Amino acid sequence: MLAVVGAGVIGLSTAVCIAESIPSCAVTVLAEHFTPDTTSDVAAGILLPHPFPDTFDHLLSICNSTDAAEAGVFLLSGWQVFQETPSTKDPYWSTVVLGFHMMTDAELQRFPKYKFGQSFTTIKCECSKYLLWLEKRLKNAGGQLHTEKITGFEQLTSSYDIIVNCSGLGSRDLADDQSLYPVRGQILRVHAPWLKHFIRDGNGHTYIFPGIHSVTLGGTRQKHNWEMSVDEADSSGIFERCCELEPSLKKSQVCSKLVGLRPTRNSLRLEREFFVHGNRQVPIIHNYGHGGGGISIHWGTALEATQLEMKKKVSKDSTK
Ligand code: FAD
Repeated sequence: MLAVVGAGVIGLSTAVCIAESIPSCAVTVLAEHFTPDTTSDVAAGILLPHPFPDTFDHLLSICNSTDAAEAGVFLLSGWQVFQETPSTKDPYWSTVVLGFHMMTDAELQRFPKYKFGQSFTTIKCECSKYLLWLEKRLKNAGGQLHTEKITGFEQLTSSYDIIVNCSGLGSRDLADDQSLYPVRGQILRVHAPWLKHFIRDGNGHTYIFPGIHSVTLGGTRQKHNWEMSVDEADSSGIFERCCELEPSLKKSQVCSKLVGLRPTRNSLRLEREFFVHGNRQVPIIHNYGHGGGGISIHWGTALEATQLEMKKKVSKDSTK
């Protein structure tokens, strides 16, 4: 019996990977909150190019399948623009995304304050749909879902042989990891169905990402800020900056304002250790701390977490 703690994009993708790769393993996801109440639901869900393309390839195959609409995964083209020309014009990820090219003068005309830009097609993964789709995929593989706040791993040691900890920022208490901290992000969702391209300021602070039902405008990156309520000064700042990039947004209507806390540490924690409780020793696989890139790398880290579990099984079997 294996328990996955956490039902954000990391917990559900890890649970699916394990349940599908190791059919003999009974997987239960335990979480205080499920979609639509996780940080993952707040994410813009854009695939930020990454040196490890597992997640891009995985989502691209969903885009190319009949599941794309239900999973909320689709291709999105647009521009990343820079006020100053960056030192690396042709980044390492230019071959991971599709159709990368440096923006022409004609394309840059839309952005008079910007000197340089990159045009490419990436993937948007809308977690409000994607998480439900992962839940369904997990149930099809025999997995179960339970709403429960875990106050300590000892709560799980009598019922489960393995624990997979995907509790995001919850690991600060649960795994007593004081190196984990929030980076607060606020976004607006607006009705602007005429916008079909993403626009991202290369400094990462301002972005416009069209989605299925609304356009996400961002954002903020406030380190060590735990405030979950909407800050109206942040909302006006986001709206003004986005309108500077895309003036037609002045005619858009705000549908919702959301806040999420990115679970951040120096590097994400993906490792196996033992939790000792009384005379019982239970392996824990930690998979948390994905910061501002959890959607972009979730499948890669889910595969890695599954490997940690499978390697252990192989070495245990070989000692029999
Ligand atoms: P979460 O989604 O927070 O899930 C944690 C889960 O653990 C929840 O189910 C929670 O209830 C559960 N949990 C915690 N503690 C306990 C406990 N004690 N007991 C039981 N359950 C517990 N990333 C990208 O790649 N691209 C983007 O465009 C992007 N945009 C973003 C925009 C914003 C505004 C924000 C805030 C984030 C963005 N991110 C983006 C980052 C991304 O959202 C995170 O990296 C990702 O959601 C982390 O997923 P997670 O599953 O680890 O955490």
